[in-house]
Amino acid sequence: MRIKEPISAFSHILSSPIEYLKGVGPLRGDLLRKELEIHTFEDLLNHFPHRHIDKTKVSLIRDIGVHTEFIQVAGILEEPVILGERRAKRLVAQLRDASGTLELTWFQGINWVQKTLIPGQRYLVFGRTGFFNGKAQMVHPEIEAFVPAKADGKEYLEPVYPATEKLKARSLNGRQLGKLTYQLFSQIKPTDLPENLPAEILSKLQLMNRYEAYCNIHFPVHAEAYQQALRRLKFEELFIAQLRLNLIRLQRHATSRGVVFEKVGDLFNNFYNHYLPFELTGAQKRVIKEIRMDTGRGHQMNRLLQGDVGSGKTMVALLSMLLAADNGYQSCLMAPTEILAQQHYTGLKELLREMPVEIALLTGTVKGAERKRILKGLQDNTIHFVVGTHAVIEDKVQFQQLGLVIVDEQHRFGVAQRAKLWEKAKLPPHVLVMTATPIPRTLAMTAYGDLDYSVMDELPPGRQPITTVHRNETARASVMDFVKGEVAKGRQAYFIYPLIEESEKLSYEDLMQGYEQVKSFFPEPKYRISMVHGKQPQEQKEVNMQRFVQGDTQIMVSTTVIEVGVNVPNATVMVIESTEKFGLSQLHQLRGRVGRGSEKSFCILLTGSKVSKDARERIKIMCATNDGFLIAEKDLELRGPGDIEGTRQSGVLNFKVASIVNDKDLLELAKELAEQICNEDPELEMAKNLLLKEYLRSQKGKNAWSRIS
Ligand code: ADP
Ligand code: MG
Repeated sequence: MRIKEPISAFSHILSSPIEYLKGVGPLRGDLLRKELEIHTFEDLLNHFPHRHIDKTKVSLIRDIGVHTEFIQVAGILEEPVILGERRAKRLVAQLRDASGTLELTWFQGINWVQKTLIPGQRYLVFGRTGFFNGKAQMVHPEIEAFVPAKADGKEYLEPVYPATEKLKARSLNGRQLGKLTYQLFSQIKPTDLPENLPAEILSKLQLMNRYEAYCNIHFPVHAEAYQQALRRLKFEELFIAQLRLNLIRLQRHATSRGVVFEKVGDLFNNFYNHYLPFELTGAQKRVIKEIRMDTGRGHQMNRLLQGDVGSGKTMVALLSMLLAADNGYQSCLMAPTEILAQQHYTGLKELLREMPVEIALLTGTVKGAERKRILKGLQDNTIHFVVGTHAVIEDKVQFQQLGLVIVDEQHRFGVAQRAKLWEKAKLPPHVLVMTATPIPRTLAMTAYGDLDYSVMDELPPGRQPITTVHRNETARASVMDFVKGEVAKGRQAYFIYPLIEESEKLSYEDLMQGYEQVKSFFPEPKYRISMVHGKQPQEQKEVNMQRFVQGDTQIMVSTTVIEVGVNVPNATVMVIESTEKFGLSQLHQLRGRVGRGSEKSFCILLTGSKVSKDARERIKIMCATNDGFLIAEKDLELRGPGDIEGTRQSGVLNFKVASIVNDKDLLELAKELAEQICNEDPELEMAKNLLLKEYLRSQKGKNAWSRIS
C-alpha cells in the first residue's frame, strides 16, 4: 500500500525561528523580533525591500528639480567639512558630476561618517532631495563607493530594506538585511513556496508563479522582473482577501437562521397604493426588492445600505418595517441622536397616520408613565414600530416579536452591539444598516465584502444641484447680504462652525463670537436665530432644533452636531465657517442639509486668506461636484484608506503590497475572479481549487479574515 503524501505542501522550514538562520544568532534575532517583528524565516521573506540599487539608473545632478523626491546620482566627493556649533553642527560635503554639484549633509554620526569618506573618490549616492538656500541638497544620503554595474559581479539588483536606527547601529542596515535574505534563499527550495493560485488564473492574468515572484521581489534581475513580481504578489493579496470575504458571506447565508417574512401583505400594499407620497426612485425599488429576497429566505439578513444624502433611505426603512409588520414582526429604527430619532418619529407617524400600526418614540428623555407604556407595548406586541436612540434600545428593551432592526447613519455598528439585539429574540432579527457617508467602491469592497451591500446611487427627481462657492472671510458682508436675500424669500439658513472636539474651549468661544456676529447682521426681532451645540443640555438642543425645523427661527447657528440626517427642506443656504478645518466627507455631509426641497440651494465655504494646499484641493472638489461617491473617491486619494471615517476594522485595509487607491483595477479583477470561484465551488472542493483551500487553512489565525472554517 502506498502511503499518501500529506496534502499540505506548505513547508515547515519557513516557520523556523529567525535566529536559526545562518548569520543571525540570538542577539540579532532578538533585535529583528523587537524592531521589525521578524520572528521566523517566513517573516523575513515577507519583509520586502523598499527599493533596489539599480546602477544603470544614475541621474545627473543637473536634473534635480524642486519636485524631485528621491534620486540616485554619482560623482566625485570633495573634502567634507564640519560646520556650525552644537545642535546646528553638521558635516557637509559636495558631490560633483559633469553637470553640477549636490550638497550632502549629515547631522548624526558626524565623526564616523567623516572617517569613512574618502575625498576624491567616486561615490554612488541615493536619497531624498531638498532645496536649501536655492541649492539642491541631500540629508543623510545612502552612500557607497561607486563600482560600475558590470564589474560588481552580481547579476541582480541589490535590495535595500526598511530598517531602524537600532538595527543600523548593529550592522543591520537596509543593505545588510539583504545579506540575510540572500542566505535564506540559499536554504529554501521552490517547493517551500508552492503556488497557491489556480493555474487558470495564473495563465489568464499572465502572473509569475509564487516562488519566482518572491525571488524577484527581493532580487530582481531587472526592473521589469520586479514589476511583474510586485503585480503577482499584489494580486495574490487582494484575491485571497476577496476570497475570504466571499466565503464568510456565503457561509453565513448557508448556516444562519432568520425569521421568514414570507408575504407582502395588506399593510405594505395599502400603504404603497394609497399613502406613498411620491413615486419611488428606481434605486429605492431595487433595494426594497433586495430586502424582500433577503428576508424571505429563512436566513438572517445582514445588509449595508449606502445612499447619498437625500437619496430617500427613510422610505426604504418604512417599507421594510411594513413588510415585517405584515408578517407579525416588530421593527426598531435606531438613530444616532435624539434629534434624528425625534425627526424620524414625527415623519413616520405622519406618513402612517391612516394606517393601523402603532409607532412609539423611545429616547433618553422619554420618562415615567410614557416610558412604562412603551416598554409594555413592546413586550406584548401592541407596539409595532419603535424609533429611538441606539443606547436606549440596546440596553433595556424587551420585544415579543422583534424581526427587523434598522440602524440609521451608522456603519460602525459592531458585532458586540448586534449581539445585544440577538438576545432580544428567539431567532436573530434581520439587520439593515443605513449610511449616508459615501464609501468609495473599492473601500466598500474590501471593508464590507462579507456583508450584503446595496447602493442607492440615484436622487429623487426634481432636485436642483447645490451651487457651492468659496469666499474669503473679507467678503463676509456680501455673503451676509446674500443670506438676507434668501431669508427675505422665506427661506432658512445654516451657519456652521468647526467644533471638532465639542469640549474644545477655544472653538467654543469662536462659536459664541460667531453667534454674536450673525446676530449683528440679523438683529432681533426682525430675525430669529436658533443655536445648537454639544454643550447644551439635551432638552435645550431639542427645543432649539425644533424651532428651526418648524420655521419659528430662520437661522440656525450650529456646530457639526447637525451633521447627520436632519431634514429641513426649506433651508436653502449653508455658510460654513473656517472650511479649511473640515474634512471632505464631513463637508459633504454638512452640505447635504440643504438642497432637500425643490428650491435652489447654496453652500458658501468661508476661509481665511491662508489656506493649505490640501484644504484648497478639498474646497475645489466641493465646488466642482455634488456627487458623494466621487467625493469619497477623492477623499480616499487625499487621505489614504487608514483615515477614512467608518473604516470598520482598520486591520482589514492594511494590505502589505497592494493599495486600494493605486491598484483599483487589480482589485476589481480579484473581486470578480474570487466571486466566480466561490459561486462555482463554495466549499473549494474541486481539484483546481485545492491549493487555495490548503493555503487558506495554512494561514488560519494569521490575520483578520481567518474566520473561515
Ligand atoms: P436620506 O437618504 O438622506 O436619509 P431622506 O430619507 O431623509 O434621505 O429623504 C430626503 C427627502 O427626499 C425627504 O424629504 C423625502 O421625503 C424625499 N424623498 C424620498 N424619496 C423620494 C422619492 N422617491 N421622490 C421624491 N421625494 C423623495
Ligand atoms: Mg436619513
